[in-house]
Amino acid sequence: MAHDDAALAALLRDARYAVVLTGAGISTESGIPDFRSAGGLWDTYDPMKVASMATFTTEPELYWRFHRPRITMLETVEPNDAHRVVAELERRGVVKALITQNIDRLHRRAGSLDPIEVHGSIDRGECVLCGVTISLDELIARADATENGVPRCRCGFQMKSGVILFGEMLPPDAIDAAYAHAEQADVMLVVGSSLQVAPVSGLPGVVLRNGGRLAILTEGETPYDDVAHVRMHGKAAVELVATLALLDAT
Ligand code: NAD
Repeated sequence: MAHDDAALAALLRDARYAVVLTGAGISTESGIPDFRSAGGLWDTYDPMKVASMATFTTEPELYWRFHRPRITMLETVEPNDAHRVVAELERRGVVKALITQNIDRLHRRAGSLDPIEVHGSIDRGECVLCGVTISLDELIARADATENGVPRCRCGFQMKSGVILFGEMLPPDAIDAAYAHAEQADVMLVVGSSLQVAPVSGLPGVVLRNGGRLAILTEGETPYDDVAHVRMHGKAAVELVATLALLDAT
């Protein structure tokens, strides 16, 4: 098993169909806490409570008290070099698909054209009753127009953010697309994910079963650490910038 940027650059350079899978760790250098590191979101909030379908349905004011400041915070942060390198690798055709568990829109804002957002995105609001979707700006405007901060759909029901909640089905199109790309991949690069959340946690296994290679760039542990071909523990932005420089040099 290799541990350095040179090995990652070589893997990407020789790849026929490289796929990148990202998690919360790619956005920590933009100032967004991840879930599992010390000081992460789970230290402060019980996600099973504030980010659950049950709370949204029965206590929409509590749901919106948590989500509204989070959306406001996410609007103020900027993509970092790790998002930018991934977008550049896609632009060059080195990376064929980007799958992300993040809901923060930073991949899109860094130039990735079509990230597969398996956990949804803050990009939009939606009505779980009648199926209508609206833009983030419209969602915020509607929240501001109510006294309790709960945006309403025209059908009368409360609206939720496009971020998938515990107890909600993941978007089937996104999951199907993610697995289809994994089936084709001969290289998967995982950046900033603990690979503990199903069904995304199964994607590296698909690549390995098909004889593909796995590279993991994540500070913390993952269940695939012993079977990865390249395993790096550094900061995502630092390592990806160095990897891109090596690709440029060869
Ligand atoms: P996770 O918190 O379980 O794991 C993140 C991993 O990234 C950890 O191993 C951590 O050590 C590592 N990490 C942190 N900063 C890093 C850096 N700069 N460079 C390299 N590695 C770094 O995250 P996950 O696997 O994505 O799963 C958690 C869930 O949290 C997902 O469902 C995701 O939707 C959600 N989430 C998203 C955001 C976001 O959109 N930015 C933020 C928090 C949580």
